[in-house]
Amino acid sequence: MSYVDEVIKSTAEKNPNQPEFLQAVTEVLESLRPVIEQNEDLYKREAILERLVEPDRQIMFRVPWVDDEGNAHVNRGFRVQFNNAIGPYKGGIRLHPSVNLSIIKFLGFEQIFKNSLTSLPIGGGKGGSDFDPKGKSDREIMRFCQSFMTELYKYIGKDTDVPAGDIGTGAREIGYMFGQYKRITDLYEGVLTGKGLSFGGSLARTEATGYGLLYLTNEMLKCNGHTLEGKICAVSGAGNVATYAIQKCWQLGGKPVTCSDSTGWIYDPDGIDVAVLKDVKEVRRARLTEYAKARPNAEYHEGRGVWSVKCDVALPCATQNELRIEDAKQLVANGVIAVAEGANMPTTLEATQYLQENGILFAPGKAANAGGVATSALEMSQNSERLSWTFEEVDSKLKNIMVNIFHNMSDAAEKYGYAGNYVVGANIAGFEKVANAMLAQGF
Ligand code: GLU
Repeated sequence: MSYVDEVIKSTAEKNPNQPEFLQAVTEVLESLRPVIEQNEDLYKREAILERLVEPDRQIMFRVPWVDDEGNAHVNRGFRVQFNNAIGPYKGGIRLHPSVNLSIIKFLGFEQIFKNSLTSLPIGGGKGGSDFDPKGKSDREIMRFCQSFMTELYKYIGKDTDVPAGDIGTGAREIGYMFGQYKRITDLYEGVLTGKGLSFGGSLARTEATGYGLLYLTNEMLKCNGHTLEGKICAVSGAGNVATYAIQKCWQLGGKPVTCSDSTGWIYDPDGIDVAVLKDVKEVRRARLTEYAKARPNAEYHEGRGVWSVKCDVALPCATQNELRIEDAKQLVANGVIAVAEGANMPTTLEATQYLQENGILFAPGKAANAGGVATSALEMSQNSERLSWTFEEVDSKLKNIMVNIFHNMSDAAEKYGYAGNYVVGANIAGFEKVANAMLAQGF
């Protein structure tokens, strides 16, 4: 049995109830075959793959909090510090009822390669809780965030582990967590990113994941003889990533026509109105039915369905495994040219393979959505030098980073004989840097 197969097998045996984690490990290790096979003896002797799939540590803790009626609740908190070979652990905090160890481990594992691809010095980690922020008052959110940080603060620090936002964690939550960290430790340091602009946040961090997705998509289209100009884009999600992907899509000449939330989706033949979307989701924190009320031509549909809309470019920006085999078939039948992942692992393995087999340009999330964490690393740099850069400065760095990521993954794919396979390219480019650092540092 090959080394890659051995490690996939042993990881499956050791983590039997972690399907999302195993999915991520399988996708990455399968695509590392060409590199591993060139140097199988060395990698095996040094147990590089076994060390990669086993987090440095996994912290799980109780998060008690009190609601507005005085009732006590308990949620489960997580921080998985996966790999710090090339920098402090870095990754977001996901607050969503679906959160469990498998989800946090898959996200932390992906983050190792994503962060490496940014070319910035950040390791991989992830955290979160099964707390559901939906429908909670500001005070309840504050009490939850304070309780979460009361345990988490022991394990993080500006040079150790720097959490940030993810699904359910935005500027409000980061603000409350930062306040609690400062209160407990008396340290005013860049321990979190995605902070408010008045206390160390970076301009363009809010926009970064969505903007970065479009910068990379545009470069991928250009390098394959297309352009975003006039392209119909289907976007899923209606959170931070989707909103700014839609905005940048318009700016680069595309036409985004869909978005979605957990209950339904919108098809707007005139193109999604960003101001209305922001008002519904960011200000009123309401459902997309409100978007349809404000836009007479827009259709609201219950359930899933974004991928049934005829489009040239598909941008899944909601959550893991939201683009399945039946969706991939529909997209291909409708003539899609490119799929670029704004969310983490939104496309199932089967759907990814189907898209690639049918010649669709496919940019995996660890490359395409790396703009968020890259800009977090820029926020860390600004915090370290106690300066703030202009929006234009951050945005132009972000653009360069995304264009470089595209070329790095494209070159890596070509070097190993998989030209145009950006999944293989992204995993190999991300892996090589981390593996070299691990080898150099010993075990
Ligand atoms: N949650 C984002 C991601 O998946 C951002 C992480 C960060 O900024 O540290 O990459």
